[in-house]
Amino acid sequence: MEPGLRRLIVVSNRLPAALKKEGDQWTVKPGAGGLVTALAPVLRNRGGVWIGWSGASDPNLDVESLLEGFSAEAGYELRTVPLTQEEIKGYYFGFSNEIIWPLFHDLQTRCRFDPQYWQSYLDVNFKFAEQVARHTSADDYIWVHDYHLIHQAFFLKSMGVKRNTGFFLHIPFPTPDIFMKLPWRWKIIQAMTEFDLVGFQTMQDRANFIRCVQHFMPECEVEGDGAVITVRCGTREFRAGAFPISIDFNQFADLAQREDVVQRTFALREALKHRKIILGVDRLDYTKGIPERILAIRQLLKRFPDLKGRINFVQIAVPSREDVEEYKELRDEIDLLVGRVNGEFSFPGWVPIHYHYRSFPHDELVAYYAAADIALVTPLRDGMNLVAKEYCAANISETGVLILSEFAGAAAQMQDHAYLVNPYDLEGVARAVNRAFHWDKRERKEMMSELRQQVRSDNIFWWVDSFLQAGFSKNLDDFPPIDTVRFEKV
Ligand code: UDP
Repeated sequence: MEPGLRRLIVVSNRLPAALKKEGDQWTVKPGAGGLVTALAPVLRNRGGVWIGWSGASDPNLDVESLLEGFSAEAGYELRTVPLTQEEIKGYYFGFSNEIIWPLFHDLQTRCRFDPQYWQSYLDVNFKFAEQVARHTSADDYIWVHDYHLIHQAFFLKSMGVKRNTGFFLHIPFPTPDIFMKLPWRWKIIQAMTEFDLVGFQTMQDRANFIRCVQHFMPECEVEGDGAVITVRCGTREFRAGAFPISIDFNQFADLAQREDVVQRTFALREALKHRKIILGVDRLDYTKGIPERILAIRQLLKRFPDLKGRINFVQIAVPSREDVEEYKELRDEIDLLVGRVNGEFSFPGWVPIHYHYRSFPHDELVAYYAAADIALVTPLRDGMNLVAKEYCAANISETGVLILSEFAGAAAQMQDHAYLVNPYDLEGVARAVNRAFHWDKRERKEMMSELRQQVRSDNIFWWVDSFLQAGFSKNLDDFPPIDTVRFEKV
């Protein structure tokens, strides 16, 4: 660890390495996301710790010894929070995924406001906070991630443990009228204000949060109007900021140029007979708007019949939360819709929709990104949407078009050079695809090269730096506005 640096403590629901049971054997699977890649060097340099659940709920398992090898190789410590099946059910599947997830994505009718979930959420948050208190000291910086762990600062304080804490919400923060539906709204808002820094994906999310704070705590005053502001509530103050998360740009751009990936990209285009490829890539989740997107493709083929035989819509849906009934139903709905549209329009030698229900290794995914002429990224609501950014990074020919939902956090940064659509407006999405199909090469290149420049500069390393700088810095002038705001600003 470099001398003089404060240790960084990352706290998240899952550790960056997960334990999986294969037959009778437990194996350690390292996480591969951009967040892990970006945080690893910081944790190594600062001698950090990552605290989270390992993915195993067997009380007899010696999890820490199983993770020792990973920890030694990664160069930072892992501390696990043991959770029982019952706790995972109430805190994770229940409160986090059946209440906060749908509500914060504006889908309140999908919420199950079960009071038992709330108790479990508090119990597990307390358990996490106990581990944080045990494995950290007053000099450490504690960075808590996401909606599973909103009560960390609250419980640390209630235990009398003084720590400098930051919280980042990876999902959207809803408008007050939606947030008000939450039976535990006051407790959640209050817990969020206990952190020293609260980070959101966009200025709009932060504005929604500030409006909720001011509703419940009218005495709170806001100072500043940049990417980071100060909120004073009586004797207490905290900061709130917008920090749009991103990707490791070079990882995607480099992969797209690797010889075997270039060949794979060409093979894909060949296999699809050099028709224009329209690509959708999502976890199979009801927030992603996959059924609406398939219906928009149907609308496209009805409204613009000249496109029949000239396009292929490729949808990659990564299995997610497969044990949950709602997700099974969504899968059935998509299966049915794909079948219907293909049944309606296909002819010998051409099927409009190619549907893949599985996860792809990175090099294959990048080949799809590089091959696609149009990325159709139309979530109903999304914190950021990394697929939009990965598509641009991997589109090394700079001839692709990004069609992006205005309800994705990414729209705040990418709106000037992506084609923004309302995912509920099937006719509007169909028209956007038709226009993108006919856009000339020069226009596409101009737009894509701007988008790539944006993702290259505001990458995941920039995101980590800006959050930590806000966590440590005393000076608000260090934080000029960072994303363009189309909506009302606080
Ligand atoms: N992804 C993946 N394998 C696949 C398809 C997608 O690992 O076969 C990854 C993709 O690279 C991206 C992530 O899944 O990093 C999806 O992130 P996003 O922010 O778009 O949505 P989330 O699933 O986090 O809601």
